[in-house]
Amino acid sequence: MKWLWRFASQEQSLWKDTIKARYGMETRWISNIATQPYGTGVWRTIRNLWPKLINKCTIKIGDGGKTLFWEEVWAGQASLKASFPDLFSLSLQKVATLKEMRDAQGWNLKFRRPLNDWEVNRMVEFLNILERYKELSNREEDKLLWAPDTQGRFSVGTAYRNSQRTHTQSSYWPWKMIWKVKVPFKVACFTWLLAKQVVLTQDNRMKKGLDLCSKCFFCECETETINHLFLHCKETVKLWQIFINKRGISWSMPGNIKEALACWNRDGNQSGHRERWKFVPACIWWTIWLERNQRCFENKSCSMEKMKLKCLALFYFWCKHEYPHEDEDITSMLESLRSS
Ligand SMILES: [Zn+2]
Repeated sequence: MKWLWRFASQEQSLWKDTIKARYGMETRWISNIATQPYGTGVWRTIRNLWPKLINKCTIKIGDGGKTLFWEEVWAGQASLKASFPDLFSLSLQKVATLKEMRDAQGWNLKFRRPLNDWEVNRMVEFLNILERYKELSNREEDKLLWAPDTQGRFSVGTAYRNSQRTHTQSSYWPWKMIWKVKVPFKVACFTWLLAKQVVLTQDNRMKKGLDLCSKCFFCECETETINHLFLHCKETVKLWQIFINKRGISWSMPGNIKEALACWNRDGNQSGHRERWKFVPACIWWTIWLERNQRCFENKSCSMEKMKLKCLALFYFWCKHEYPHEDEDITSMLESLRSS
């Protein structure tokens, strides 16, 4: 990692020039991955650590000449490509640096076609972010800052401590909420895909290069991302409310599926019917997904009242399946969720 850091941060040196000449550059920070079979072992091993290094770096923008506008993380916590996949798919400047996207008047963005009305809000949001980076410096080059160090300087010690820490963090995974919940296997698989963020909502389709309008099929105004569709969409929230109101808690929705599962699980362990409470996310997500696909592929749609019924029916059948001998109706099943 130390060598990668030097490679990316040092200006000129003989060894850097040698590697540049031999492998070519993938971005302005780092060489291509070494693929030739002979004599490339050392650099290949070093080069493979690059994703780990760059994940822990922030870029301090100078003149914008080294940093890729869409691909690299320089504004906020994620790359602009990840935050605005819809706009990225429209951009004609997919591999430009910041510097190349500027002219004397400011940002010079080129898109393939005029924006649709529902894309305008996204654009405003996007421009608001760019507004914070109005001034590029002419004197300084872009620099990497090593996030674990307050000064932004890389050291082997902080890298080691950091790798230990991320190891324990990433081992947390809400697997019990996925595989230990007694729902049909395909539904559990679906929940798992959601938590992995790989279900083919429109934003994920666009990352694969399929060009679509990315409007949510339910509210018809926001972009369809996994987190929007399954957690935050104002229509989806109506389904969550059924169960949250029954339980009688106040609930603020976490930012992503994994966290939502973790919080739901934590809440469920406190009181009320634990096992049934854990069915709820899968009930909602499966209902939404079926309805969404109907709207997307068959051009048919159900009213919200019908969707609520379908969602409750799933809940009823899964509870029933789990406790077949109890003679219970849906009202008392819902009642059993109430927290004391
Ligand atoms: Zn929506």
